[in-house]
This record gives sequence, C-alpha cells and structure tokens, in this order.
Amino acid sequence: GGLAELDGRLVECRACPRLVAWREEVAATKRAAFRGWEYWGRPVPGFGPHDAPLAVVGLAPAAHGGNRTGRMFTGDASGDFLFAALHEVGLASRPTATTADDGLELYGVRVTSPVHCAPPANKPTPAERDTCRPWLAAEITLLNPRAIVVLGSFGWQTLLPVLADAGWQLPRPRPRFAHGALVTLRRTEPTAARSARAELSDGGGRAADDELHLIGCYHPSQRNTFTGRLTRPMLTGLLHQASALAGL
Ligand code: SF4
Repeated sequence: GGLAELDGRLVECRACPRLVAWREEVAATKRAAFRGWEYWGRPVPGFGPHDAPLAVVGLAPAAHGGNRTGRMFTGDASGDFLFAALHEVGLASRPTATTADDGLELYGVRVTSPVHCAPPANKPTPAERDTCRPWLAAEITLLNPRAIVVLGSFGWQTLLPVLADAGWQLPRPRPRFAHGALVTLRRTEPTAARSARAELSDGGGRAADDELHLIGCYHPSQRNTFTGRLTRPMLTGLLHQASALAGL
C-alpha cells in the first residue's frame, strides 16, 4: 500500500496511552474559542502530495491546532507562520490554513511530524517518540524525498536513526542540529535497481535519488517566532534553498 493506506492505518493508532488520553481529553474539553468545534482528537497524518520531493518534518500536532482540525499544522500559530512562508516561496496555494477542507494545496512538499498525536506541553517522551518512529520511517520510505527541512532538534534527533535504517549513510560524528545546517546523505550501498537508474541518468553524475539533503531550521513555534529567533525571511530563505535542492 502507499501513503493513503498508511495514513488510513495511522489514524487508528492507540499505541501511546498518555497521548491517547490527552488528545481525547483536549477534544472533549476544548478551548473556549473553539467550543463549537468537533475536535479531531486522533493521530494527525502528514499533509501534501504523495510524490513530493520535499518533506518538512516538525514535532507533533498542537492540542488545539492539528488535534482540532485533523490536518498537520492547520489551525495554530506555528502553522500560520509556516504556511505563509510556504506560500511566499510558491509551495502552497494560499498563505493560510484553517480547516482540513479549506482547499489549501501544497505543491511538491509534504508536511509531517515524528509524533502524530498532540502531547501535553508539546513535549513527547522519549518512549512516545520511539513508539511513533515506525510511522515516520514508513512515511519517509514511501515518499522518498530528495530534501527534508527539519524543524527543530527533536525532529532532527528522531529522523537521523530513521534515515540510517533506511540505508542512508550518516557522517561521523553525527551531524548536530542547527538552523541552516545542511547535510547531504548518500546511500550506504546502491542497489542494483538504483545503479540501473544511475546509468539511465545523464552521464557520469550520481542519480538524484542517491542523495538526500537535510536542512535544519528552527521550529516556527511561538517561542521562536515571537522572540525573533526565527524570522519570516530566515524561514523563506531556507525553504527556497530546500526547494532548489529538491529539484523544484
Ligand atoms: Fe500512535 Fe504515534 Fe499517536 Fe503514539 S503518537 S498513539 S505511535 S500515532
């Protein structure tokens, strides 16, 4: 099965007792401003085309954002900041995201997170991160992106072992997360299929899918955007660079 099948199974997941309890409690109690809402209250799948060459990996859905609307980064301040920037660089049809059926389209980019259920205080435990990791691994394998923008050190720490397991060679020492960090990974062992594709691609060069570019970026959380640690030009600059590296 592809990503649609994966997402269909993901939304049924109840593997983390603390997160299941929290996402459902938040959905039942609601925030006053959203009293009229039917909260999603379940795991939030990645959002964007299934053949996107660029992935954006965040942290986890927000309690009253993705956990309310059912779509990644939709309906919270981090998402407002991210989608406006994606739109500015031509990767989103609109600068705003309000509901799962608002018609917003992403172009060549899929946004997802290493933990798919809203955690208390936006802080998943290491056990919850590890429990959710196979979902991220499956999604990245199916998507097979050429570049990944990683929003914050949590996503970075979670993604590196996923990529190592998927056959990408990690530099030693392991690259550290930093805003603007750029790491280009290569396959540990090119498979016969990949070598054949390399031969088909124009002479001598490495086949495009034998390289994966990781770009570190501060998370667009209010803590970072309100303080100016992450500004809009900083984010759009990195998204520009990432979309070029992804071949967009
Ligand atoms: Fe399942 Fe991930 Fe949600 Fe845990 S965080 S319940 S592994 S979807």
